[in-house]
Amino acid sequence: MASKKKSTFVKPNAREITTAVALIDDKSQFMEFLRKCSDVSAEVSAQNSLFPPIATPGRHDWLTSFPTPPESFQSWERKIRNHVNSRMKTIYILPLGEFTRDKSSGSELGVRFLGDLEAYTSSFFTGMVVKMMKEVPVAELKCKSRQHMVDDKVVREQLMVSGIFAYMKSVKPRDAYCVVAVTMMDLYPNDEWNFVFGQASLQQGIGVFSFARYHPNFFERDKSVAIDTLHQLTPDDYQMLRWRAIKVLTHEIGHMFGLRHCVYFTCLLNGSNHAEESDRKLTFLCPVCLRKIQHAIKFDFLARYEGLVKFFQERLISAHNKNDKFLLCKEWLDRAISLAVQL
Ligand SMILES: [Zn+2]
Ligand SMILES: [Zn+2]
Repeated sequence: MASKKKSTFVKPNAREITTAVALIDDKSQFMEFLRKCSDVSAEVSAQNSLFPPIATPGRHDWLTSFPTPPESFQSWERKIRNHVNSRMKTIYILPLGEFTRDKSSGSELGVRFLGDLEAYTSSFFTGMVVKMMKEVPVAELKCKSRQHMVDDKVVREQLMVSGIFAYMKSVKPRDAYCVVAVTMMDLYPNDEWNFVFGQASLQQGIGVFSFARYHPNFFERDKSVAIDTLHQLTPDDYQMLRWRAIKVLTHEIGHMFGLRHCVYFTCLLNGSNHAEESDRKLTFLCPVCLRKIQHAIKFDFLARYEGLVKFFQERLISAHNKNDKFLLCKEWLDRAISLAVQL
């Protein structure tokens, strides 16, 4: 999917990281936390593993294909599209397709899945209002679609992004900071491309993201195995789909706040070229990206971490699997909170 470029990625140095975090000498707990976490000098980083520095990219990794330049706090602040304010502080999530309409037992799972996406987005972007819009069946979009060969023998229906955008513009509420559509249908941007995971227009504050290729049956040749509903998933597969979906959604909404792909630390906003690279990431924002999002929304960072702990504990950690990735996230949050309260 990615085209190769000649330049190679160079890791930002300590000074560039400091510039990017843009610490203010206000002695607040948040600034102290960022100072501690973004200090990459040897002795500090040895005891601080909350935010590992970015790893040297492998041959097929995102940064090898797209060696993104670092973006400091100041350059981000200059270019952001619009600021969150009391008249425009709602993130709308628009489900496209059949998440909840399936007449079988799947509808219950679909409702839970969308409920988790909404609640997680709300904790992740603490301070924003998050609303789930009414699900729209694909036929109502009236957008262009095609039957596309996605593998040697597997043909899937794909929706063209421009038609989805036209629909989204027509239903975008006035108080929307952004509208993000989610779907289990595969997407394509134009006839030349095989597919896209998603696409966004920052100018218009709209984006659409597909979870289709995160479905374990996407490349299944048996036509009776549906991928547009969730009811055929095993509990483990469902857990994996949820894990990928919450990360994709919050990563993409991060872009709607003007964040480029992160090149400073291991971070939710790192770009990913393939599924393994995206599965490697945890769900957290590094000090550089956290600083920007906090500046945009002005949340209390500790309250946000505590809200996320509660969310992982109550909704995502499954009783049957004590080693799952959500448990790792909860443990990470506990460590971050205990570091912050010592400051
Ligand atoms: Zn991205
Ligand atoms: Zn980052």
